[in-house]
Order: sequence, then C-alpha cells, then structure tokens
Amino acid sequence: MAASNPVIVVNQRGAGRLRGGHLWVYRSDLASAKAPAGALVEVRDERGRPLGSALYSSSSQIAIRLVSNEPLAERALLTLVRERIAAAVRFRQGAARDTDSYRVIFSEADLLPGLIVDRYNDVLSMQMLTQAFDREDLRQVVVSALAQYFPDASLIERVDLHIRELEELPARESQILRGERSSSIFTFNGVRFRFDGLGGQKTGAFLDQRENYAAAARYAHGEALDCFSYQGGFALHLARVCDQVAAIDSSRPALEVAEQNEQLNREQHRSGEIEWTEGNSFDVLKDYSSAGRQYDTIVLDPPAFAKSKRAVPTALRGYKELNLRALKMLRPSGVLVTCSCSFHVGEGEFLEMLSSAAADAGRRVRVLEKRGAAVDHAALLNMPETAYLKCLICQAG
Ligand code: SAH
Repeated sequence: MAASNPVIVVNQRGAGRLRGGHLWVYRSDLASAKAPAGALVEVRDERGRPLGSALYSSSSQIAIRLVSNEPLAERALLTLVRERIAAAVRFRQGAARDTDSYRVIFSEADLLPGLIVDRYNDVLSMQMLTQAFDREDLRQVVVSALAQYFPDASLIERVDLHIRELEELPARESQILRGERSSSIFTFNGVRFRFDGLGGQKTGAFLDQRENYAAAARYAHGEALDCFSYQGGFALHLARVCDQVAAIDSSRPALEVAEQNEQLNREQHRSGEIEWTEGNSFDVLKDYSSAGRQYDTIVLDPPAFAKSKRAVPTALRGYKELNLRALKMLRPSGVLVTCSCSFHVGEGEFLEMLSSAAADAGRRVRVLEKRGAAVDHAALLNMPETAYLKCLICQAG
C-alpha cells in the first residue's frame, strides 16, 4: 500500500479530466497541494475518492501527471518505469524496424510522462523534462534500462535550460552519460543525415516526419520548393525524385548542416545542386511569386504558429497566407505537402483553412493523404496533446 505518499486533492474539473482518460491536472485545478518537488503522490477528488498515482511538479503549470490508476508505492514506481521502458522498446523493435532512428520513448504516449528518448543510429539522446524524471533514482532506472536494451549505443543527456528553469531545477550541461560518441550519421528512408548531440551546432532531426518524407517523395516531381527546410529533411528526399530543388529556412546554422547533409547524399540525387536560401519563407514566397516562379511540388512545414489557444486565429491567418501563395504557384497537377505541428490547431481547422485557401486561389484540390506523426510517435487516445502533427499531401488541379 502507498499510505505514505503525499495526497493531492484535485477539484471537480481536474477529477473530470483524469476520469476522462487524460493524464494531466493543471495547478489551477488542485484543491490542495502539499508535496515535495518530483514526488510520487496519491490523487483524490474532493470527496476523498482515489484517482490514482501521479508524479508531482511543485513549479510547472502541469502540476500532476498520472502514472497509474492504482495506489503505488515508491518501489513499485521504479518497477513500473522499468516495465514501461521495456514495452516502449519492444513496440519500436516491431513498428520501427526499418529505420535506425526513431523516438524510443515518447513521454505521456508511452505512459512515461516527462521522459523522451530518441535514437540516432548508435547514439541515444535522453531528455528529462520534469522534476520527477530528474530524480536520481528514476534517472538511474532509465540509464540502466537503456544500457541493457542498447548495449552498443552511446547515451547523451540533452538539456533544455528553459524547461529546467520552468521546473525550478538547477542548470545542467548537456553531456555524454555513457560511451564516447555524441555524434553519428543516421539514415531515414535511405537518406543520410548528420547528428551531433553536443557540438557547437547541435543537430537533431524531426523524427516525427520520417514517414512523411517517404510519402512526399512518392508524389513529388519536377521543380520542387521546400519552405522551412531546417536541415533539409524534405529537400533531401525530394532531390532523389525531382529535377530541381530549392529550399528556404531563416536559420543559417540549420542550412549549413543541410548543405553538409546534401554532400552525404549527392550520388543519389536526380536534381542538380539544391538551392538553399536563407530568409523568411513568407517574404521569399512573395518575391518568388512576383517573379513568376512556378513549381510542381511545394512543401510547407513551418514551426508551431499557435503556442496557445489564444494564438489560434493568428496562426490560421499565417497558415492560410502560406498555403494560398503555395497553391497559386503550383503548376497544374502540382503537389502540395502542407504540415502543422500546432496542437492547438486541430485537423478540422487545418482542413478548413486549406479549403478556404484553395477557394481563394481558384484551385480544385484533392487530398491524396491525411497523415500524422510516424508510428514511433503513436498518440495516446484521450490525450490530444500527443497528436499534434498534421501532414496533408494534396494535388492542385
Ligand atoms: N521541415 C523541417 C523541419 C522544420 S522546423 C524538417 O523536416 O526537418 C521549422 C523550421 O522553420 C526551423 O528550421 C526554423 O529555422 C524555420 N523558420 C522559422 N520561422 C521561419 C520563417 N519565418 N521563415 C523561414 N524559416 C523559418
């Protein structure tokens, strides 16, 4: 029994969320909170009915993250975490066996809230995002489980200082925890990328787009444009099937890595050299369209425009401007790959935005594929935050 765990009482709204299958309760929905930072707590509603066991943060707006519907002793927590890591690894061994790089542990979606582990070939990159997962005993469990399942891989801890500040955790450097390597070359769908977890230009990929790169390459043709290219995820896939590829990103360091990635894959490119342009995609698209440029394939993969619910209308205006411009610049039968990683913009709203852009552009648009994140990021039903990525592949008549 877990009689000794601190008790956190949640109000009716918080209890409703948990009973509805969500894992989070916000601080504003706590009725009483007296627990140490990072503690395993017992959650009850205001009538004293048990709601399960959760990990507590004394500082985050997300005050508790449920780990079990049952009462749980501290020792049992460590066993549970070990079992869930084993289940997460086993799932990817099946679902992601065609790739050397994928998300091994996806926090809430793997019922390990606050823990992310990504694999880049022979380097694992681990992030502890909460007070609880920063606890020494939990860190130990994670590190030793990863050593057991990936005996030949190096392990680095990637630190996000902003998150540590929000969690009121002392600053810490990103570092190698096991092995010697912090960099590697990894392969997605036969395309090679550099990964450098600690170097001056830290790199890492948007692993969630892995399957969408391959899907985009199935339809892409002719002259292609990749907006918000980062280190070339889409552009490098397009270069294998398109005649010409241009790419835009506002970050020079990202484009420098993109060019190095291009060198790694050159022999397989059907296109000539990729034209990398540093700039604001909104402005560059405007310039290109005034200059009468046209494309057969356009990819739009901007950063999350809506970081909060309040920002949704502005975000939708941004998405519409981009998609409208892109649709106008597509040749007949052109392919548009359009993404949104804003959780707050749902698939319905995203489709509505695209419909309205298509109408304004006077184009008939067919949706060829409605896609989300790769299967190693499989979302948790009842927790929409884990299903943030939308990727539509369309054809404009
Ligand atoms: N498509 C990429 C991921 C894009 S992430 C991939 O598959 O790997 C979003 C990118 O948008 C970042 O690289 C960021 O530098 C860039 N970015 C943000 N705002 C921008 C803007 N206004 N114009 C161009 N690039 C921008």
